[in-house]
This record gives sequence, C-alpha cells and structure tokens, in this order.
Amino acid sequence: MLTDYIQTYAYGYPRLGEQREFKRLIEGYWQGKVSEQELLQGIATLEADRIATYAQFVDTHPVGEMTLYDHMLDTALMLGVYEIDPNDLNAYFELARGANALPMTKWFNTNYHYLVPHITRATRFQLGWVKPLPERALYSPRQTLPYLIGPYTFVRLSKGYAPEDVPYLLQAVAEPYQELLRILNETGAPYVHMDEPAFVLDMPAEHLSAIQQVYLLLGQEANLLLMTYYDSVDFLPLLYELPIAGIGLDLVHGKRNLQHIGQFGFPSDKILVAGVVDGRNVWRSDFAAIIELIRNLQSRTEATLWLSNGSPLMHLPVTVEPEEKLDPALKERIAFAKERLEELLILGKLLSDQSDEWDMSSLDDFQPTHRIDHWYSAEVQQCVARLHPEDFERALPYSERDCLQRERLQLPLFPTTTIGSFPQTPEVRQMRTAYRNGKISQAEYEAFIQDQIRRCIQLQEEIGLDVLVHGEFERTDMVEFFAEKMEGIAFTQQGWVLSYGTRVYRPPIIYGDVRRREPMTLKEITFAQSLTQKPVKGMLTGPVTIVAWSFVREDIPIEQVAFQIALALQEEVRDLEAAGIKMIQIDEPAYREKAPLKRADWEPYFRWAAQAFRLAARAKPETQVHTHMCYSEFSEVLPFIDWMDADVITIEATRSKGEVISAFEHYNYARQIGPGVFDVHSPVVPSVESIESIIERAIRVIPRERFWINPDCGLKTRRWEEVIPALHHMVQAARNLRARYGATG
Ligand code: GLN
Ligand code: ZN
Repeated sequence: MLTDYIQTYAYGYPRLGEQREFKRLIEGYWQGKVSEQELLQGIATLEADRIATYAQFVDTHPVGEMTLYDHMLDTALMLGVYEIDPNDLNAYFELARGANALPMTKWFNTNYHYLVPHITRATRFQLGWVKPLPERALYSPRQTLPYLIGPYTFVRLSKGYAPEDVPYLLQAVAEPYQELLRILNETGAPYVHMDEPAFVLDMPAEHLSAIQQVYLLLGQEANLLLMTYYDSVDFLPLLYELPIAGIGLDLVHGKRNLQHIGQFGFPSDKILVAGVVDGRNVWRSDFAAIIELIRNLQSRTEATLWLSNGSPLMHLPVTVEPEEKLDPALKERIAFAKERLEELLILGKLLSDQSDEWDMSSLDDFQPTHRIDHWYSAEVQQCVARLHPEDFERALPYSERDCLQRERLQLPLFPTTTIGSFPQTPEVRQMRTAYRNGKISQAEYEAFIQDQIRRCIQLQEEIGLDVLVHGEFERTDMVEFFAEKMEGIAFTQQGWVLSYGTRVYRPPIIYGDVRRREPMTLKEITFAQSLTQKPVKGMLTGPVTIVAWSFVREDIPIEQVAFQIALALQEEVRDLEAAGIKMIQIDEPAYREKAPLKRADWEPYFRWAAQAFRLAARAKPETQVHTHMCYSEFSEVLPFIDWMDADVITIEATRSKGEVISAFEHYNYARQIGPGVFDVHSPVVPSVESIESIIERAIRVIPRERFWINPDCGLKTRRWEEVIPALHHMVQAARNLRARYGATG
C-alpha cells in the first residue's frame, strides 16, 4: 500500500534567475559589456544555483537543462545539423539571432518560442556536441539525470521536410542519439530524461511505428525516462512495450491520461512520473485532491511512482517571495516555480507517511488566511449570467454592414493602413519609465504622448495612408496596458517569464471578476482623430489574447473570464463609437495559439473564443471592426476565423511564404482581408516592386475589392528610418495597382 517512500522529481526550472541574471549576462555579452569568460562563469553559477534549489526540495532532477538561447537549437547542434563549433559563442548566437538566424515559432500552445531547425532528407546527422555532460563538481550523479529533447519531438518540431519523411528522419537521427546516450550512460547517471512532449500531439499511424523502432534502439543504450506534458498521450500501450525505464505524464493538463491508465493499466516494471503540480498556472495545488489522485493511481498499478510537475516549470516566474506589493490574499494563494518545488516536497512527505491514515490536519498550515470577498462583483457575474445568444451577434449580417460601411467610409480600392504600433524609440521608453518612477508628472507624460501622436498622424498623412492609427506610444505591452486598467487583474513586480532567447514578459494574474474602471483608450484615440479627416482606427486587445497571455483564475470556466473581459472591452467600443470613431481594431494574435493541441478539442475552444471576440466587437453595423492575427499558421483555422464575424482581418502572411494566401484558394472567406505585404520582423526595406508582386499574387486568389494593403504586424520594434521608406513604398505600390486596375479614389 502506501508504505513505500515516494520520490519527488522536478524539471524545467526557469533558467532566468531570481534577478534575471540570465538576461543581463547574455545581453551584456551581446553588447560587449560582458566578456566570454564572465558570461560562461555567470551561467555556470546560475546553473549551480538552480541545481542547489532543486536539491533543496526534491530528490531527483535533470542536469544539462541550461541553454544560452534555446534547447531546440542545442539539440540541432548535438545532432550535427549546423556545421559550427557549438562552443564558438559568436557562431552560436549568429544562428540564434544573426542575419541568417533560424526562424522562431511558438513551442506547443505556450508563450515560449523556439528556434526551428531546418532538416531535410539530405541532412547528415552525426554527433556534434555532448552538451548535457554534467560538470561533475556541480551535482551528485545519482540524483541528476542528463536532459535531452527526444528524437520524435526534435523531428516533429523541425521544418524543411515533407510530412512523409518523418519515419526516415527518425531513423536518420537514431545513430547520433545512440552515441550520445552511450556517452551519458558512462557517467553513471541512473536514467536519462528524454523530453517527448510531441507525443501528446495528434499522431499519424506511420509516426507510431517509427517511434517504436527508434526507441527499440535507444532504449538499449540507457535507462530512459520519456517525459510528456501539456496534454495526454493517446498511445500508452505502445509505450508500455518499449524498453524504457519510465514515462512522465501530465496529470494536470492531460486529463485523459488518468482515463487511459484506468483503461490500460500501467506496467509494474516502469516508473510512472506523475505530473501532479501545475507547471502552467499559478494557483496553489490542492493537496487533498492530489493525494486522492495518487491513491487512485496506486490502486491501479504496482509501478513505482515519482511525484513531479505536470509540465516544465519554465512557464512560471521564479518565486513569489519578492512580491511585496501583491494583495496578501493573492500572494498566499499562488505558487511560482520555487513554490511548486516546495509543494512537491510537502506532497512527498505526506504521501510517504508510514501510516495508512492521512493526517489531514497537517494540511491546515497551507490554508489561506485572508478573505477574498473583495475579488468578486455580483454585478459583473450577473452581466455574464444574463447573456443571451443574440448578445454575441451584431445587428446586421456582414454583407449589409459592408454596404453601410463603404457608404460611410468612402475608401479607395486597395485601402492602405498599418497594424497599430509605430516605432517605440528609446526616448519613448525612457519617458514611460520616468513617468512610472514618478520622475515626470502625469501632465508632462501626457503632453509627450500627444506630441508623439501628433507627429505620427502627420507622418501618416504625408505618406498618404488611407486609414490611420495613433501609434500606441502609451503602451508597453498590448496585454499589460489593458490588464492594468481593469479590476480583478493583478501585476507582479518580478514575475518574469522567458518568451524567447533573453526576452521576458510579466504575465498578469486574473484572479477576480473583471471590469473596466474608466475608459482605457478614449483619450489617445479621440485626440488622434481630432488631428485628421481620415479615419483613425480605435485599437484594442481582444479578450482571447488577454486570457491567453495571463495566468487565469480556475474557479469559473475560462469562457466566463473571457466574457467578463469582453464586456469591459465592449464598453470601450461603445465609448469610441460615441466619440465618432468609425473603425475599431481588436487584436487577437493569440486566437490560434490558444487552441488546444489536439484537433478533437478545437470546436469547443473556438466556439467560446469566437463568442468572446464577438461580444467585445458588438459594434454598430456602420462601425467597421478589424482584427489582427500573427505568429501562427492560419490555413487550418480559417473557418474558425470566420466565426469571429470581423469585417476586416489583417494577418501575418509574408513569413509563411504564401501559405496563407493559398489557403484562401481552398476556403471561401467572404470578408475583407489584408494579408500583410511586408515582413516587419526584418530590417530590410521592401521595394515597391516586391510589394506589388506580393499583392499581384494575392489578388489572384482574394478578390480585389476585399483586399487591404498593410504590413504584416505592428511596427514597434522597427526604427523610423526603416518604417518611413517601407510605408512610402507600400503606398506607391497601392497607387500603381489602383492605376492598373482602373479604380476610383
Ligand atoms: N496593434 C498591435 C501592434 O501593432 C498588434 C501587435 C500584435 O499583433 N502582436 O503592435
Ligand atoms: Zn501582429
């Protein structure tokens, strides 16, 4: 029964460091302020700290998880995909962020971006680096497991090959993996941690047999723990047959895992690494529920159980400790990475108790002491409870709205616009920091912002754009800006999470009922509109994106949280309309990314996501609603984009090289679309000809009268010297096309 000691295991602890040392060291190196030796020493210290933190709380943990930029890149180097010396830092960072850097994309449905290795049937894989070979001084070999990304996840998340090449590529990487494992095995490590989160994706049958074959080989070289997370694995019986030592399952976000164990059992000769504490959200674990879960597992299998986190802890900030300004009621209810380790320690103790009777009273110490009535608003709850189907619909269908809007807006054929932000110069950032730190007054700050808006409007007029924006100079982050203006959402001071490379963000925490305190954007937008005869787009961040990029309360269904936010945004829409704003853009860059990993779960998700958007966007029929999306592959989700019922969508299309455009060949999208005619992530100024040719190609598929001309995303990371000529060229391209297609305007 429960007499055995239950081991604890944790992985994926944030590499950022409590003081963001990781960021400071690496960026310092890039700027030439930190020498190579200082960098390597600093990183080694960080790694040692991390290992010490693990060792303080859990029995076993991985080693070799540190990376100077990204694990997928490191894995590609271990497999010899790129011919550089991995210890040559400049060559390494060149691949990570140089002119010919690897492209970047979202890691599963998280907000972390990985570097996408390019592999083909012609790639010669060979052992290029033995990265996780631990510094012996740092660790005790019996408690640390070398960390690797497994072959399936590596291949599945790389690009450059045809879908049918996966089995071939898995065979091709087997040899370097074998060699690597042999070397790691010789270090005396009891197991190797093999990350295989791609096992939770929808899986074609050919992949299954290829996985089987590769692990039949690899399992002979070392004791493997195959770690999966973010969702459930739908082919457990196949894994049971493999010569592996254990399987890690996410029991927090992979609800079906438990069902599968109920159905298929779990082999007694393998370790079940039970992911029971949440690696993706911040609410304190429910110990009683976890203990019950473990009992349940123990009644189904004789296997050795390890207690672990459900997914890598890197999606959480480092620790709650320094958050002095946080509402104490909230602080005692949340756990970041370090607190998750502590939870594992406590759970391990509770579960290893020699008696069969649980001393539940010892859990009392973890009961929160502050009340939380002030988190809730009956009024907000009622507004959501009272929503009817018609509250999610606009008064007229798109075709009729389109007529009204054309009449009202009088735009030329191929209208030109931008996505919202203009360059955030060091000056803008300095002023914002000065304002936040109380160094300049609100009046001074607002005057500065107005000045920026004035110049931005003037510039757009000069360039000849048709639909203008105010430039978003008052915003740091598109989610933070709105979240700060809403009740029920909290901010941390140190709660940073890596989103890619050394880039960090601080996710807000949605803890209570959400409502708008006062108008959020009205001042800036109406000021911008007062300066021009041309329409200025109101600019809001949509409810799905706010939810996707925050830690969200779990005591009510997520759609209710999204609807509360949507209602707050709807009030803003009403205010903007009343102030004479004719177009409103509601950005939803996370609409696609927030979708569950398995297609079978898509419909229910997109249903509420689209509803939340429509609720926010329930403008008058004559108000033109735009939305914008980026960072994802959209071809497969076009029908769900239709569900949003926006009048115009602008979408990132230049980097996906026409994939988005060709998707429109197969799907009849009846609304207006601006598929991005130049890549804002590149400093290259596009020529008039290149823009024209992109448009020419696109309008073979998308009807001309529905076509908008715009960059593929916001311009905030670009410099004015790049933006101004690029927009001139874009407007010139539009003029040339109008002349060619004999249009008015
Ligand atoms: N309106 C935002 C901007 O232009 C959109 C950002 C985004 O798509 N992520 O910056
Ligand atoms: Zn974008």
